Parts: sequence; C-alpha cells; structure tokens
Amino acid sequence: MNQMAPKTDERAPMSRPLQDRHAIVTGSTSGIGLGIARALAGAGAKVVLNGFGDPQQIERIRAGMAAEFGVDVDFSDADMSKGGAIRAMVDEAVLRNGPVDILVNNAGIQYVAPIENFPAEKWDAVIAINLSAAFHAIQSVFASMKERKFGRIVNVASAHGLVASPFKSAYVAAKHGIVGLTKTVAMEGAEFGITANAICPGYVWTPLVEKQVEDQAKAHGIPREDVVRNILLAQQPNKRFATVEELGEFAVFLCGNGGTSITGTALPVDGGWTAH
Ligand code: NAD
Repeated sequence: MNQMAPKTDERAPMSRPLQDRHAIVTGSTSGIGLGIARALAGAGAKVVLNGFGDPQQIERIRAGMAAEFGVDVDFSDADMSKGGAIRAMVDEAVLRNGPVDILVNNAGIQYVAPIENFPAEKWDAVIAINLSAAFHAIQSVFASMKERKFGRIVNVASAHGLVASPFKSAYVAAKHGIVGLTKTVAMEGAEFGITANAICPGYVWTPLVEKQVEDQAKAHGIPREDVVRNILLAQQPNKRFATVEELGEFAVFLCGNGGTSITGTALPVDGGWTAH
C-alpha cells in the first residue's frame, strides 16, 4: 500500500469537495441552473434555488434535492430584473445560512427579432435579466467575499458571449457584456481569493430546446434528427447537445480547489462551435 496515500476518512471529503459551502444559483428552477444547483448540492454545498415556476413543483425540487444530497436547500422567487429583489435575496440567504461562498449568475431569457423590429422593452428585459442581474448579485456578495478571502463567481454566458448570430441583438450584447463584467470582477477579486469565470455553452439539452426540436420538426415536416443536425446544431461541429449534468460538473470544478487559479476566463463548452 502506498504509505503516502491519505487514510480513508481524510479522503472522504474528496467526494464532497464543496462541503458546507453556501451557494446561490439564479434561474435554477429548470434547465442549466437546476443542473448546476444539483451538482453543487451533490458536492456538499448548501444551495439557494431561484426562479419562476409552479410553486408545488419548485417545492418538490427543493425538498427532493435536500433529501437526496443531505444539504440545506432554500428557494427565493426574487425577480432577476429587479436590483432591489436581488439584494433582498442575498440578504435573506446570508441571514439564514451565513455568507455566500459561491454565486452562479445563470438566469436568462432570449428574444429573437431583426434589429429594426426589436421591441425596446424586450431589449431592456434581456439586458436586465441576462446582464444587470449579475452586477447586482455580485455587488451584494463581493465585500463579504473579499473580507473572507474566498469567493467563486460563475457567470453562465453563452457561445453568444464570444460570437454573434443575427436577430439576437440584446442576447448577444448582454452575453458579451457579462464576459466583460467577468474579467473586471476577476481583476478586482484576484488578490482576495475570489475567482470569476464565464461559462459559454453552445446548445444544451434542456426542456426548452427539446420543445424547439419538436416544433421545428412539425413546422418543416422533417425528422427530429434532421432538425438537430442541420438546423440547431448546424454550427456545432460535435453534433451533440451538451447536458446540464456536464455543465454542473464543470461548475463544481471551477468552484473547487482545481479552479483556484482559473479566473477572468470565458470558457467555451460548445463542441467546437467558436473554434470555427
Ligand atoms: P431555462 O429557461 O430552462 O431556465 C431559465 C431559468 O431562469 C428558469 O429557472 C427561469 O425561471 C429563470 N428566470 C427567467 N427569468 C427570470 C427572472 N426575471 N427572475 C428570476 N428567474 C428568472 O433556460 P436555460 O436554457 O437553462 O438557460 C439558462 C442560462 O443558460 C441562460 O442564461 C441562457 O442564456 C444560458 N444558455 C443556455 C443555452 C441552452 O442551449 N439552453 C446555451 C447557452 C447559454
């Protein structure tokens, strides 16, 4: 036996690398946010869920996660388009479970229209939820992270934080903006044990994407496989969707010891899309 190997009890925390960390994941009642929240909880973190949806279903998710992973799981229905609500969400979380160690800014919406017809109120909503919300949330946790010399900020951007597509002006602007915010926050936090990174997914398999596949298959009268390969994943060389579980594992890595020196980056998780 390797005398240098840690004893079993010393090694155990490796399976829960985020034991007792306190995490807030915005927009985590479905899709990528829920995948990341589940992965953080599985790694031992106390988690605050956030987002919209059927209250009974959200409670089932919350209680189910707490039971499955043996961690505290709370829920906030704070509206990410409102700075005051975001600050109140953080204050409540701190009162309940102590300072926030991990902040995942994930909530996001999309709106697609040519620039000349893009409704101004949709522009404002996309910028508020996909970009300004992250500013408000980061500002609410940052002083405490600096004081405690530890923080992990993960911003869920998009491949559209790195490249553009037509008709998505607000989304592409917000996602490029959050990449810039990530870099600035990384610099301000660098000497205080705080990292900030943007994850930039290509297409991820979520209920919304699943519905798009069904809808487009019906609209074009073509098989689902053709929609996936030739329409949705036309730009994505590996021709597969990332999964929310993959994104969860990646977030856990960034929040753990392995992520200590990774900061200020925009990390594509896009099957090669932005390598074109
Ligand atoms: P989703 O619609 O499944 O989840 C969005 C979450 O945000 C939900 O929990 C919803 O309730 C919440 N939300 C929306 N508006 C909110 C508001 N005003 N206040 C609080 N919560 C709000 O979407 P998703 O596909 O999981 O996307 C999550 C993030 O990932 C978004 O930022 C999105 O831009 C990004 N993204 C998604 C993909 C993809 O293929 N699905 C690809 C790249 C980036």
